[in-house]
Amino acid sequence: MDIKVWNDMIKDINSNVELEGCLKTSMERITELLDVEKASLMLLDKENQELSIKVARGLADDIIENTKTRVGEGVSGWVAKNRKPLLVKDIRSDKRFEKREGGYHNNSLLSVPLLVAGDELLGVINVNNKTTRGVFGKKDLDALNDVAAHVSSAIDRAMKYEEARRSSQIKLDFVSTVSHELRSPLASVKEAMNLLLDKIPGKINAEQERFLEIAMNNVERTLRLINELLDISKLEAGKLDMKRNFQDICIVAKHSYETLKIDADAKGVKLNLKMPDVNVNMWFDADQITRVLVNLISNAIKFTEENGMVNIILEDLGGFVQVRVIDNGAGIAEEDLDKVFDKFYSVTKVKRAGVKGTGLGLPIAKEIVELHRGRIWVDSQLGRGSRFSFTLPKDIRTV
Ligand code: ADP
Repeated sequence: MDIKVWNDMIKDINSNVELEGCLKTSMERITELLDVEKASLMLLDKENQELSIKVARGLADDIIENTKTRVGEGVSGWVAKNRKPLLVKDIRSDKRFEKREGGYHNNSLLSVPLLVAGDELLGVINVNNKTTRGVFGKKDLDALNDVAAHVSSAIDRAMKYEEARRSSQIKLDFVSTVSHELRSPLASVKEAMNLLLDKIPGKINAEQERFLEIAMNNVERTLRLINELLDISKLEAGKLDMKRNFQDICIVAKHSYETLKIDADAKGVKLNLKMPDVNVNMWFDADQITRVLVNLISNAIKFTEENGMVNIILEDLGGFVQVRVIDNGAGIAEEDLDKVFDKFYSVTKVKRAGVKGTGLGLPIAKEIVELHRGRIWVDSQLGRGSRFSFTLPKDIRTV
């Protein structure tokens, strides 16, 4: 077979992230490849040790729905049990399979196992009867077996993807319920504390006010944590809607800079923004990218001492933009560098008054950048400062 046709076929099989598409494409390409009358792809139910047809060609609907083959029984059961490809030139004269009820409607057939990681069985592919005259030969069997190796890994990947999606959805459902339940009582606590701080019920002394403020900060932090937890769960489950528009990223960078300039000034940290003086129009979600920028810039300010400096540099690199947020603050130790994008991670060694975050800002930023098909990373030296960088392709449709 022509190498290009072969490569296209493999690429096509691998192009589906979801199982249904993956099975359908595999079936289409296999029937094309071998020119067969009938074909079926069966998957194994591990618990019952039973194969059932997931996708087929040339078979009646009731056969597709009702066929259940136990491992060890019949042709596909033999292949599943022995984990070996099988070529039968004429099933009616093959002694191994003569006991089947109702007999066989096929003559020549191929059946190959779908295996991953050596011998983990996912299922079986069967093809029956060539459309042209003649019977299957060793060459056909080898070709089908080669395709099956690619089909197996594509199915395995799709199953794992769906499993990850399912567990993210379960997590999201749980987090949604819990956050809803937590938010209402916390809102009442906040309201009551606001009344006390506004001295509506009566005067309070300075010490009482200080304690109330500490309590209030923690209520607010908890509310922030709940919102962020909900957001990261949505991002992970693919349920946070991205509103991508074609727009100027410099406007978004300038807006984030101006918002945080007030905090930087208040702390005595110098905040600079350097970017092209022409528009950099590209496809992205302005709210989400603002969120990434605000997180990186506010972290940089938070972890930089008075008189320190934070530089934001946005560069147009042709097909993509690169943004760097560079500070000369606390820095991050080498052993912590690969953990800062983990959920709930916070470097406790660097203690600072009022710097209690949620540990979810960077994981959220990472999800957002990756959903834009970009990359985010950090370089840092303890005591010298940090540089957080991310890239975004300008046209997400071409990557
Ligand atoms: P949060 O800031 O809410 O704790 P993040 O996910 O934004 O959560 O950051 C995680 C941790 O990474 C921070 O707690 C801090 O230890 C470290 N970190 C982030 N940005 C910087 C920075 N610019 N300089 C030093 N440490 C940083």
